[in-house]
Parts: sequence; C-alpha cells; structure tokens
Amino acid sequence: MVVAREVEHKGMESSVARAGGIGHLGRRGPHSALPSDIRKSNRAAVLKALYPDQWRSRADLAKITGLSKVSVSDVVGELIEAGLLVEGGYKSSSRPGKPAVLVGINAGGRGLVAVDLSEAGRVSAILADLTGKILESSQIDVSSAQRGRGHVGDRMVSDSSSSSDTSSLPLEPVIRLCRTLIGKSSVPMLGVGVATPGTVSDSGEVLAAPNLGWTNLKLADELRQALDLPVFVSNDADSAVFGERCFGAGPANMILVQLARGVGAGVLIDDHIVRGTSCVAGEIGHVVIDENGMACACGKRGCLETMTSIPFLRQRLADAEGQADRDDVLAQAGEVLGAALSMPVAMTNITDIAISGPEPIVGKMLLESVENTINDRVHSRFIDAVIVHATRLGTNAALLGGVACVLRHELGVL
Ligand SMILES: [Zn+2]
Repeated sequence: MVVAREVEHKGMESSVARAGGIGHLGRRGPHSALPSDIRKSNRAAVLKALYPDQWRSRADLAKITGLSKVSVSDVVGELIEAGLLVEGGYKSSSRPGKPAVLVGINAGGRGLVAVDLSEAGRVSAILADLTGKILESSQIDVSSAQRGRGHVGDRMVSDSSSSSDTSSLPLEPVIRLCRTLIGKSSVPMLGVGVATPGTVSDSGEVLAAPNLGWTNLKLADELRQALDLPVFVSNDADSAVFGERCFGAGPANMILVQLARGVGAGVLIDDHIVRGTSCVAGEIGHVVIDENGMACACGKRGCLETMTSIPFLRQRLADAEGQADRDDVLAQAGEVLGAALSMPVAMTNITDIAISGPEPIVGKMLLESVENTINDRVHSRFIDAVIVHATRLGTNAALLGGVACVLRHELGVL
C-alpha cells in the first residue's frame, strides 16, 4: 500500500542510527547514496511483506519481494540482529528435509510515541508498539498555558496572527509528556509522530496554528533536538485520515472531517494525502458559508467554523431547552456541514466520509444529517451514495496516524 508521498528528511540517517531504526544497519555512510538506498529499499520490501503479522520463510520472502535468496537472508539477518524481526515456528511441508524457519515482525522490538495537539486545553500522547498497539496513554492539561487565548467559536477577538505572544502553547510540557512515555518503554524508540492543528510544511515546520499561537515554529526540529529521536509532524486531520487508512481499514479514497476547536479536513485520494500548492488543502474552516453570520476570528463572517466547531456546538447545546432542541442543533450543524461537503464529494467521487469529534456531539443525529444532506444534493444515477460515519478509530485516529507516519518514514511498511 502506498500512502502519501515520501518526504526526505535531511539528517534522517544519523537520527535513525541514534534511535534504533533501520538506517544504521548499512555498512557505509550516508554519502554512498546508491548502495544504502538499495539496502534501505530491500529492508522495507522485506518488512512490508511481513507487516503487521505475517510469518514467512526466507524462500517465500524472496518470491514475494523479487529479491535473491542471498539478499533476503542478508536483510533478514540484519533485521533480526536489530530486533525488528524474530524467528518463530516452522513452515509445514510435506517434502522431506528440514522444515523452513518462519520470520515475522517483532511487535515489541521498538516503541513509538505519538502526540495529538488538536484538543482544546489538552495534549494527548501514546506509546505504541510496531503494530500500532497502544501500550500506554497519557494526557496533560495545558489550558492554563494558553489562558487568555480565545478559541474559534467563542466569537473570539484576539489577533490570531500574532506569533510570539505569551499565550502560545509552550513546548516544555509537550516534551515532558514525550519523555514520560519514552521512559516507560523498555525497548529502543523508533520515533515520534505529532499531529498538530494548523498548516505544516514537508519538513515539519508549523507554518501557522492560530489556536496554539504558533507561527513558523520548527516543531519537528525542536522536538528532534530535545528528544534525540526522529520526529515527524503532520496536520491533525491529515494524520487522522492516514490513521484511519492504516489502522482503521479505511478505503483508499476518503475525506475525514475533524470537528474540534476548529474545523479541518484530511483528504485521501488513491492513497495519497492531498496537500496542495502550499500545504493547506483541507483547511475548510474559514470558508464563508453565511456572509451575514457570526463574526469569526479570521475577520470574516459566517465561516464554517462559526457554525460547526465543537466550542460553538457545546454552547448551543448548553443553551438548548430539552432533547428536541438539542437534536435540532445537531441536525442543523449536520445540514451546514453536508451542504459544504457536497461539492468536494461530487468533484472527487469520494464515497466514504469519516467525522471525528467528541461524543455525543458526533453521534447518530449529526452523522445522519450530514449523510442525508450530501446524498439529497449529490446522489444521482451517475454518482454513488455517500456513507458518513464516525471515525473507526474513535478519538485515537490522529494519534494512530502519528504512529503510522513514523512507521512509513522509518521502516517503509505503510
Ligand atoms: Zn473564519
């Protein structure tokens, strides 16, 4: 499965070597590009053939990967030595002779940490194994660190473009949280994946995240330096759609809409995350839906965020009188979102839409309203009906996307 384009990171080989990835297994330095690239792609091919839980003989691996038996034996030997593969059991055979030994992924051979910065006032992180199994999870409250910063949906008036004000989220608690989880791992770490709101460059620089008070923050570099590990940073919605694809059995074409303090979307087309000309694809929150609507933090009126963000919906639900009123609030939000999504659905022929957000807001009422609105507007004998559902991974989608991102960059298995 090829998901999203490969991004080259300068100095990755050396950081991988420190961390216990696969880059250090080569016998030559990073300057002999060609042989090391071949070794790296051979290792990735073998790991991919076994990921996440296939057990195969070396001879079968040679057949599947197209590599010679000698190359496979070399690569398997290196990966066993590195603790990424283990031998286990024998292939049953009717032929006489010694049965072939099977090898598989050593799930507990490395630890991975993923961090989700998308929730208001809270940073969540997990420690996972090589198959994405969550071993530990931890959250910290960072609301005091951001006190004074308005949130979208609060009819905020603070200048969301200022970059270095005192209310921006400091990195120290995020680093501490990572260190705590890294400290709980008894095996070497493969890397850290971070899902952040805002726009993120290919090199992991957060170009703008107004809700965190960040502008041009070299987040991947800062964390890499502090943790001495490979770090990969993605937009939270991109991370969530990647997580759904890799660990939630999501299809190769899907949209994931993230309802949080803001509203964003991750778009996966033919297994590629759509990033766009300046990495802002999916930033749908500040598209004007009602030009006479509520004032928005961005300076416009009636943006999608002013009608469907979680802080806004929480307030509307708190003001509602009785269940029928609350159902109306959610149905109306679903209609707004469904209308907004109708054109991209027709444009791309995507038929699977996941919505992430806290329960009970993202529940039956809202999901059915989004689905019915899209299908009423778009469905015809030429265009398939759309299915709208909550994320298959629940609130862990962005976190598992962070895990998937590290696995893709470091091992090439996803
Ligand atoms: Zn706006």
